[in-house]
Amino acid sequence: MTMSSAPSTAIQEQSNAAGLLLRLVDNPPCSLVLEGGSQTQRSALAGYLLKALHCRNPGDGPCLKCDMCVKIEADAFRDLFRLTPLEGLSVDEVREIRPALSQSPHHGWRMVVVEEAGEMNASCANALLKSVEEPVSRNIFVFLSNERQSILPTIVSRSFVLTLGRTPGTGLESGQEELYSDFSTFVLHGKGFMHKCSKKENFDLTGARQFLVRIRLDLARGMRGEKSLFKNIEPVKANKMLLTLQKAEQALAFKARTDLVMQWLALTMWKIFNKKQ
Ligand SMILES: [Zn+2]
Repeated sequence: MTMSSAPSTAIQEQSNAAGLLLRLVDNPPCSLVLEGGSQTQRSALAGYLLKALHCRNPGDGPCLKCDMCVKIEADAFRDLFRLTPLEGLSVDEVREIRPALSQSPHHGWRMVVVEEAGEMNASCANALLKSVEEPVSRNIFVFLSNERQSILPTIVSRSFVLTLGRTPGTGLESGQEELYSDFSTFVLHGKGFMHKCSKKENFDLTGARQFLVRIRLDLARGMRGEKSLFKNIEPVKANKMLLTLQKAEQALAFKARTDLVMQWLALTMWKIFNKKQ
């Protein structure tokens, strides 16, 4: 009897998109845009396609157990390049991978994944566009973004665009309920939560926006005297909190770093919440 490796939650949540990607395996596009869903889901889907392209025992998808699948999952695959604009991608880094792109991949296909592609600066985007415009066979570019509008239009127009579905449920990504509980503890006691803000998988832009909406709803409940972290909060404090939420939303709209915004928000909410009137 063999144990089956279950696909990750992210793939299960996006099973339609995963199914579509499997159909691309025979003839994958040179450039692919994955928009919508959560950052974790987009990233998992890019890996899923790469696994499907290389799996030694494919069934209804990659086996997730062979050496290829395992290497890709561990980010130890030589033909996988990950570019991360949120960590300060430079145009030199983009140019550095170019020579590698003109060589044949070590295995079947090479994949360049651009995480949060909308955050790329113009010079990086243009440098990549050059590579996308002059496709070399067996190279696949995958641009991940919350929405295609944030990616250079000339890149999008050359790409196969796949829009991920919204995760059903509470309106929060899975895992965010736990985050909200950590956030609540922080507002009450000033402990924990800060380190969670710096994890990219916790707060991508969509996740951060949804989190702000969640706080707003909870605050409104509290102001009505309903069960909430903010139950029976004084109006003066509630108003200060609403202003804080507004500032955080503006900061996100102006592309401030989500981890810094969430940390600032939690600290400010904690101060307001615990201030003696
Ligand atoms: Zn496999």
